[in-house]
Amino acid sequence: MFKSNAYGAQSATSPLAPISINRRDPLAKDVQIDILFCGVCHSDLHFVRNEWKFTSYPCIPGHEIIGRVTKVGSEVKKFKVGDMVGVGCMVDSCRTCPSCRDNLEQYCEAGSTFTYNAPDKHGTAPITYGGYSTAVTVDEAFVLKVSEKLNPAAAAPLLCAGITTFSPLHTWKVGKGQRVGIVGLGGLGHMGLKFAHAMGAQVVLFTTSPGKIEDGKRLGADEVVISKDPDAMAKQANSLDFILNTLSVPHDLNVYMNMLKRDGTLCLVGAPERPHPPLEVFPMLFKRRRVVGSLIGGIKETQEMLDFCAKHNIVSDIETIPMQKINEAFERMVRSDVKYRFVIDLASLKG
Ligand code: NAP
Ligand code: ZN
Ligand code: ZN
Repeated sequence: MFKSNAYGAQSATSPLAPISINRRDPLAKDVQIDILFCGVCHSDLHFVRNEWKFTSYPCIPGHEIIGRVTKVGSEVKKFKVGDMVGVGCMVDSCRTCPSCRDNLEQYCEAGSTFTYNAPDKHGTAPITYGGYSTAVTVDEAFVLKVSEKLNPAAAAPLLCAGITTFSPLHTWKVGKGQRVGIVGLGGLGHMGLKFAHAMGAQVVLFTTSPGKIEDGKRLGADEVVISKDPDAMAKQANSLDFILNTLSVPHDLNVYMNMLKRDGTLCLVGAPERPHPPLEVFPMLFKRRRVVGSLIGGIKETQEMLDFCAKHNIVSDIETIPMQKINEAFERMVRSDVKYRFVIDLASLKG
């Protein structure tokens, strides 16, 4: 076992503060990683503040990890010391259930081991601790290769915001000839824009923030609609094939349902702490519209997404912060004041 410097919360109301944690020495199939950067996902904030009501403390968040391999176990095949790697939202799963066999470990029927707030199978600590820390040890099966072509800080958000938007766009085959809506221009939304654009779709951004119109266009939107303007919203009726909704707050989904063409799909990835107002059934019946959900993505698909990003030169638009600024960053995230992902430089926690 070795010590790692970290930042964590001791309760739903306490700020994130320095804490020392234990990490395991690499076992045969493990990779030890020196964490360089970690993205700040809105899920980190939901967890720290116990908004989903299943947080264990201390909570050390962070599941958008980029680092370099510092040690490998005797049976590690995919990685060597010095490699640039990533770790996302999962560090293990049962590997035998139908979902795991289908490379969909995020839907593991035994429950995936998430990067933080999950029981630690190795007993190094009661629960897993995330990437707001200087080092982590992970089974190589859950470690991703990251191209040296990508800026490592800007690549960190790909590990959650990237895969969470890439996976549904890929699963529901978004592409040329389709009109696609992205709801919310935050960490997830800005990656959704980049991917939907790169996949060849015509993209419409829905934002509550008039100040984000120009950025929306630069990031890949062909059209930007201010979602607080009822007339502009009404004009979108029956016009979209697919909508990816990333909002972190409850809101009326019927407005978006009515924008779908016949057989269109409304995909929810945002995870608000309280339910949305009820969905009306008739607009769904009369156009065979559907609503679906999607959780991150499997390891194989995450690697495909990272390779797609290296090929198309896609990374996040980020604001780098030292670890000590994390509480301020959380406050700004609540106010939708992020362009478009905070990334922690872990050099601020070393030495
Ligand atoms: P984020 O960066 O904070 O972005 C959320 C965006 O939602 C904001 O930028 C804002 O966009 C909009 N928004 C926020 N507050 C609003 C309000 N009061 N009214 C209307 N719009 C509001 O968050 P994120 O990291 O992208 O995460 C978004 C959600 O996805 C969170 O709930 C997170 O937990 C969840 N998530 C789910 C998965 C999954 O696997 N399904 C994975 C990661 C995250 P505008 O300013 O453009 O309106
Ligand atoms: Zn996340
Ligand atoms: Zn499984």
